[in-house]
Amino acid sequence: MSLPRIEDLYDGLSLDQRLSRASTTVRTLIDRTLDGGVLDVDESMTLLESTGDDVLALIAAADAVRKTDVGDDVTYVVNRNVNFTNVCFVGCRFCAFKRQRGESEAYTHPVETILAKVQEAVDLGATEICMQGGINPAMAPFTYRDLLIAIKRAFPAIHMHAFSPMEIMYGARRTAMSHADYLAMLKSHGLDTIPGTAAEILDDEVREILSHKKVDVRTWVDIITTAHRLGIPSTATIMYGHVETPRHVAAHLRLIRDLQSETGGFTEFVPLRFIHADTEMHRDGLVNDPPPKGMYDLRMYACCRLILRGAIDNLQTSWVKINHDLAQLSLNAGCNDFGGTLMEESISREAGADAGEYTPVAEIHRLVRGVGRRPVERTTLYKKLDPTEGSTTRENATAADCAGGRSRGGEVLARPHHVH
Ligand code: SF4
Repeated sequence: MSLPRIEDLYDGLSLDQRLSRASTTVRTLIDRTLDGGVLDVDESMTLLESTGDDVLALIAAADAVRKTDVGDDVTYVVNRNVNFTNVCFVGCRFCAFKRQRGESEAYTHPVETILAKVQEAVDLGATEICMQGGINPAMAPFTYRDLLIAIKRAFPAIHMHAFSPMEIMYGARRTAMSHADYLAMLKSHGLDTIPGTAAEILDDEVREILSHKKVDVRTWVDIITTAHRLGIPSTATIMYGHVETPRHVAAHLRLIRDLQSETGGFTEFVPLRFIHADTEMHRDGLVNDPPPKGMYDLRMYACCRLILRGAIDNLQTSWVKINHDLAQLSLNAGCNDFGGTLMEESISREAGADAGEYTPVAEIHRLVRGVGRRPVERTTLYKKLDPTEGSTTRENATAADCAGGRSRGGEVLARPHHVH
């Protein structure tokens, strides 16, 4: 049996009716999650491999769980991605963002340029800067610390969401510091939270295929848990749709769940579809053509909501990866967060994503209201902001406010979709 069609979502059936049409096995597992139970890896795999009416039941259940656990508000954060360099020696085969030193499109922004980008974001009401870059061997050992110092000196109130575990590993190596000492140093200079990127699939055999120089699972876990213990929360991510199997996804979700039980430091979970086009993996035939966007993605979101229930409440859709229409639909498949506003989101664009680099706040509001929900601006740490302030003025900004390909007002900045 195959995946159902998107149109099947609109047949007006209730959750009970959908459950009655599901297979006994899947209905039993869904019932368990509805009662607050936790699935093991084999059971999670069963959900991840669902087809036909089982998928429609999963989506309806994920929507119900979302409503019960976090309500109907759809949150978003006004932020800006700053990719300070695209020079990288790591060579991940799924990455179309990286450039070699000396390539015509290689860049490393001077601090003045970065500060100007932050200023632009602050002028537009951004509360967060999400800063990541390539792993540039030419950088000075304390570059990451010095960037934080420069930004926080000029903008003490901005939330710095920066540096993936890969960058933390590299920075610690370059400075000959332990992960704990390095993270503590960054925190003392203004690091607030870190992106839980560079996770891809937390399985070393898969990682070897994706990028054999990448931070390994043990080190990723060490950096994330060390950060959490130091009071530096992080997001959690998964990159799906490449060489992984349902078992890899199920085990990844289990690991994230277990880490959350241990530290409580994850703020949200973000499933990121792998964008095939323009990547070495696709060119070299390591991955087939991607499955069509649609039910394949909604099944993933719904499974994440159910499998992570009780551990991580916030499930973020990724409009950059799956486009606006599908991101809107994902709000009925378990998601409660629309991510962020994005003035520059070059990672997915370089790999062939076509959703653009920004979504005006007005557009997010339109998409959210289009499914009968209330858009609410939040901080990085999910504090809801007064809807009568801030976003109301940003809501009036449109894409027409953008100048020269850069937003001039109200863009919705995507959450860090940098995958390294
Ligand atoms: S994903 Fe990150 S670490 Fe990997 S090649 Fe791209 S920029 Fe470098």
